[in-house]
Amino acid sequence: MTMSETTAADGADGTANADFDVVIIGAGFGGLAALKELRGRGFSVRAVDAASEVGGTWYWNRYPGLRVDSESRIFCYSTDPELLEEWDWHERFPAQREVLKYLCHVADRYDLRKDIDLNTRVEAARYDKESGRWTVSLEGKGSYTCQFLLGATGVLSIPMEPDLPGLDTFKGEWYMTARWPEKEPDLHGKRVGVIGTGATAVQLIPLVAGVASELTVFQRTPNYVLPARNYPIDSMTRRSIKDNYDALWDMVRENPGGWAFPPADRNFADFSPEERERICEAAWEVGSMGLMVSTFADLMTNMEANSFVSDFVRRKIRMQVNDPAVAEILCPKSDNPIGVKRVPLGHQYYEAYNRDNVKLIDVSSNAIECITPEGVRLADGTTYELDVLILALGYDAFTGALSKIDITSTSGESINERWADGAVTYQSVAMNGFPNFFMVGGPQIPIANFVPTLEAIAVYLAETLCVMRDKGIKSVEVRPEAVDRYVQLMHQLTDDTLFREGGRLRSWFHGANKEGKPHAPLLHYGGLPMFLDDLEAEKSSGFPSYVFA
Ligand code: NAP
Repeated sequence: MTMSETTAADGADGTANADFDVVIIGAGFGGLAALKELRGRGFSVRAVDAASEVGGTWYWNRYPGLRVDSESRIFCYSTDPELLEEWDWHERFPAQREVLKYLCHVADRYDLRKDIDLNTRVEAARYDKESGRWTVSLEGKGSYTCQFLLGATGVLSIPMEPDLPGLDTFKGEWYMTARWPEKEPDLHGKRVGVIGTGATAVQLIPLVAGVASELTVFQRTPNYVLPARNYPIDSMTRRSIKDNYDALWDMVRENPGGWAFPPADRNFADFSPEERERICEAAWEVGSMGLMVSTFADLMTNMEANSFVSDFVRRKIRMQVNDPAVAEILCPKSDNPIGVKRVPLGHQYYEAYNRDNVKLIDVSSNAIECITPEGVRLADGTTYELDVLILALGYDAFTGALSKIDITSTSGESINERWADGAVTYQSVAMNGFPNFFMVGGPQIPIANFVPTLEAIAVYLAETLCVMRDKGIKSVEVRPEAVDRYVQLMHQLTDDTLFREGGRLRSWFHGANKEGKPHAPLLHYGGLPMFLDDLEAEKSSGFPSYVFA
């Protein structure tokens, strides 16, 4: 039995016009999890996505070299043992194609597609206090009504619009990594430029270096790139992973970053310099995010620990890059503590700079002034002639996608207006003034492996809506004081950690990578276990932070 009966399917004129218990915006990892969990509990649900396939950011992103930066064994849904048993990952860090295939498999095996509208964009949503229902307007396709509206619009789904004067005059081709064309551009033998050196560019650069006649990388801020150490997963390893999934998920939920590492429970001060070196070396060899999550518990709170690990990586960079002058440009400065900006995982990244056809240009003090018809011109007038320009400029993280939809509160305030001074949420899932509206992957989720985090939130929300249904509740709204408390906690956790430097370092964790965006914590720095415990406490104590009608 569903809470409400669907009154109509798609209208005869091709426009949607139906009523559901829940409408979900987005069919990526978060949206699919929410659809599966809610439908499995008997709700009538419709998911809507602007893309022509499910997958969210894993659909839109398909640039060369794109892989997951989390290990495949934990970059998947955890709740269904049959799904875990039947799906075979083939690499430790699978390429985009395999991740998208996985998400398509999930959509097919649970028959989710029948409840998803692809190629459909939500443009607005209005709440009616009287009926306790949302009207969700779909661009050119009518509208849906629903009791609950879920925003699962993605953490990193809206790419930064390039703010590069003269880009439209460029005679060559230019591409944004986050909107890479389905028909692979031919870069063979071309002079290619890449602007940006974040996690995206770090994956792309070695691949482009292998085909371009010349590759020019424009770097404004160097990153600490850790070795991913990818490998194929053989059948024995796969079997062992599958046989140990229960313990693996326990480990993930107990790790502050949601990683498959035991939590680092040792402090920097307890070790001699030699022991510290050995700890870092061991983590470096394991690859993945080991250096960040399994070395020292106080890595992000103790500047001395952080400086040690930062120096360790700088030494490794110098060892990998042949030309000392290039290595120095690639080394992050001492005022850039490791981890404050998202640490990328590299696959032969630094080695790419040892190739004769790769040039690294430091634009930290000699900025890109404009794009000319021929290429990129710097402030000092130097011009680099290019055939192809690739922009890996990052995302308007967390708030970008929801802010583009005209969702208004009961007092007529848009989400944009609500977040004008920085995102404010309760536990990343709710905002006061927006009754019956929840987010899966909203601002202020923990800085952790996102798939287990999003799945946990989807399960939590599905269970929460079950409680509402059982109690016959028409509307639910978080109390403003709960939001204030949570936002205060976000600031406190930021101030207590080195993440407080994020604003100065233009980190997207802080909204600081986008001109004009307020600098405020977009992530919860207390770790996944704390976040999950707090969600559980809210539920088990009867949702004291919410008002029910
Ligand atoms: P990003 O980390 O925000 O990097 C954007 C890059 O563009 C930075 O190097 C930035 O320099 C540069 N930039 C921006 N404007 C510029 C300008 N005018 N001139 C010169 N440089 C400019 O974005 P991203 O690389 O797309 O990564 C974003 C996030 O996506 C990652 O942190 C990660 O969480 C996620 N991601 C995940 C995966 C994965 O799991 N496989 C892969 C890729 C990305 P500054 O640093 O100086 O601002």
